[in-house]
Amino acid sequence: MRSLTLAEARERAALLTVTSYAVELDLDQGAEVFGSLTTVRFACSAPGADTWVDLKARSVETVSLNGADLDPTAVVDGRLPLTGLAAENELVVAATMAYSHDGQGLHRATDPADQRDYVYGHLFLDAAPSVYACFDQPDLKAPYDVVVRAPLEWTVVGNGAATRTEAGTWHLATTKPLATYFVTVCAGPYVSVHDEHDGIPLGLHARASLREPLERHAAEIFDVTKRSFDYFHGLFGIRYPFGEYHQVFVPEFNAGAMENPGCVTFRDQYLYRGSATRDELLTRANTVSHEMSHMWFGDLVTMKWWDDLWLNESFAEYMSHRCLVEATEYADAWVDSSIVRKVWGYGAERSPSTHPVAGVEALDAQSALQNFDGISYAKGAAALRQLIAHVGDDQFIAGVRAYLTDKSYANGTLADFLGAIEAASGTDLGAWSRAWLLTADRDTLSVRLEEQGGVIHSAVAVRETPADRPADRPHTFDVAGWTDGVEVARVTTTVTASETALDGLQGAPEPAVVVPNASDLTWARVQLSDSTLAALPGQLPLVPDQQARAVVWSALIDGVHGATVSPDAFLDVVEAAWPKETNSSILTRVSAYSEHRIVPYFVPRARQADSLARLAASGRALLGTAPAGSTESLAAARLVAGASDDEALLRAWADGDSLPDGLQDDGDFRWIVVRNLAARGLVDVAGVESYRAKDDTLQGGLNALMCRASLPDPEAKDWAWQQLTGRHGRSNYEMVHLARGFWNAPDDALVADYVPRYFTDVPAMAEWVGEDALSRVVLVAFPKVFADETAGLSARTLERDDLTPAVRRSLVDADAELREALASRATFGAAV
Ligand SMILES: [Zn+2]
Repeated sequence: MRSLTLAEARERAALLTVTSYAVELDLDQGAEVFGSLTTVRFACSAPGADTWVDLKARSVETVSLNGADLDPTAVVDGRLPLTGLAAENELVVAATMAYSHDGQGLHRATDPADQRDYVYGHLFLDAAPSVYACFDQPDLKAPYDVVVRAPLEWTVVGNGAATRTEAGTWHLATTKPLATYFVTVCAGPYVSVHDEHDGIPLGLHARASLREPLERHAAEIFDVTKRSFDYFHGLFGIRYPFGEYHQVFVPEFNAGAMENPGCVTFRDQYLYRGSATRDELLTRANTVSHEMSHMWFGDLVTMKWWDDLWLNESFAEYMSHRCLVEATEYADAWVDSSIVRKVWGYGAERSPSTHPVAGVEALDAQSALQNFDGISYAKGAAALRQLIAHVGDDQFIAGVRAYLTDKSYANGTLADFLGAIEAASGTDLGAWSRAWLLTADRDTLSVRLEEQGGVIHSAVAVRETPADRPADRPHTFDVAGWTDGVEVARVTTTVTASETALDGLQGAPEPAVVVPNASDLTWARVQLSDSTLAALPGQLPLVPDQQARAVVWSALIDGVHGATVSPDAFLDVVEAAWPKETNSSILTRVSAYSEHRIVPYFVPRARQADSLARLAASGRALLGTAPAGSTESLAAARLVAGASDDEALLRAWADGDSLPDGLQDDGDFRWIVVRNLAARGLVDVAGVESYRAKDDTLQGGLNALMCRASLPDPEAKDWAWQQLTGRHGRSNYEMVHLARGFWNAPDDALVADYVPRYFTDVPAMAEWVGEDALSRVVLVAFPKVFADETAGLSARTLERDDLTPAVRRSLVDADAELREALASRATFGAAV
């Protein structure tokens, strides 16, 4: 399929004004296809001109333009030519469309728990034409009237309020003008919980088999929803414009959630079936708030072209954290951001695929998607925090309000947004935006202290800018220091040069631990001093500032990836500080990162078992002291379940014996245990299937696939590889779970044959797997055989010119991580 280019989009936007869409979807035609009847009314500024409508149909039955029939077979590359347009036009297209199984388009999934089918639309970024005929670009907005025919027992929700007008027929209320990619319909035997707030009808929906967790979590989700509405109403000064507000938890969703106006879709793992840690609840609250902020920024005002998509995400990323801190119980949301979101973003910044936050020319829609990453979210949000430090908060919010008001129901650009902030603040942002938004990479921040008699004599903040990407970024941040848990020094500074004196620190006692960017206000590589690094095992557990601890952990992770901190030194800090950690986000993320990234990537294979045993011992230590049912207890139990080699304990837990309090009947926890047993070859296929029989659900089936792929035997690997890379109709989630288990092996020999196969078999999947889904598969399935041979194959593959953009992007990132692992092993491999 051709991807829409910027030039084409500009030309079509100049030519057309879309007046309305009427879309009738017939979802009662079985499991494979659905009917789609679209009527588009649109004006043309140059009568007689030609254009095309986007249409990706299984078959096109009839097409008429202004009453004249067109050839329904004339579609080429997803485009149906329209010639000789009138000033006012009516296009009617009747087509048959295919359901998708890769989370893009109208996705259909069968719930194994009850064999019921669920459908949801995810039309981001260019999947709308696979559901209805449209002019698919973000700046051709129009109101929608949608009618859905569905099986009798189904419920339908969508962008407009749904009314069942007769058995099996649902009319959705006329919407406000929407971009094509925001249109959604969710249909199936969904179960629902309803509420209302400030005149806004609220709905939560999920698969019938998730009724119990939906009802258990509804109060918490509604609470965050209501608080977010109040907060954003106050902050933006504009009422929520899209009528009802539905949040639908859908199966096999690629992203976290999608901000469809009036009908947000979420991955349904957010309805935690078993016990949830506090940071898991925080993450969900953050997503709820994030999507809601898009109702204004993204939905009410939409970017003109995909190259400004980052602005939506940076803004929502910033606003959701701000909202959580100011309006909910999650006052530590920025701590979570430091250890989750910024760790992700710094990873993106380390990769050769890094790019400026903004201004990356996206010549077509698909290439824009490649820049939609941790830079767009985490770095963009950090840049907005620096922008606020630069212009003032009141001025920033005044600019945001003006931008949202001026561009309501229309489109904006970065220039429009910055112009509004400049007007509100009276500050020229040319130099600032060139340095922060238009230049890739990050500065390194460190602090140089000189002491005399235990007192700081001089202190300097050092800013190093990448030589190959020069920029003059001003940073506002603070530096703080602790000794034995007492904060002995803190100063806030704005650096605009390579060295800035920190006069405020003079005369303070020399701290044992010094943390640049302690409140995490800026975006930079934080370089800890050697003395701070050496002191961390003893000192970090005593530092009372959770935000600063998160910055330290993030800097340590960065250091391991950059081969400046050895994995052993990292694990020393884990052993000393992790069991005493009191912040839930730091606790769960550090253990998960240690188990799933630090050990398998950076510790040589021969010493991985010892490292995992150390982690398991830390888990057992915390499990012994943590209050039953607490986040600490749960995080500790998960670490033991995943890392322990205690067969008797694992077997007992898998069979439901001697479980820590709160984990009885927790199917998701049991799968962590079974995965460990499978990876060690302590259960076989029949054993895995027996656990699946106890949890015959969508999630259970996915976990069973991962466990089968994890089995350390050649037959299991062969089966898993076939299922992963063959055309077996596997869903996006199934492929990712197969990939997640596959590279588990006691030694490289078991999986070595699959390394070259990866580089041919996986890129070839672009034939039948959508780009969004495949980009994840490429990353997760990348060989975990950290060897020069893998790097050589990877380099040669990247020289190919036939890789799709998503495959190439994910390969570049996975390749960069392989090289980080190899560099770390070369530097520290001999260390014990
Ligand atoms: Zn978003």
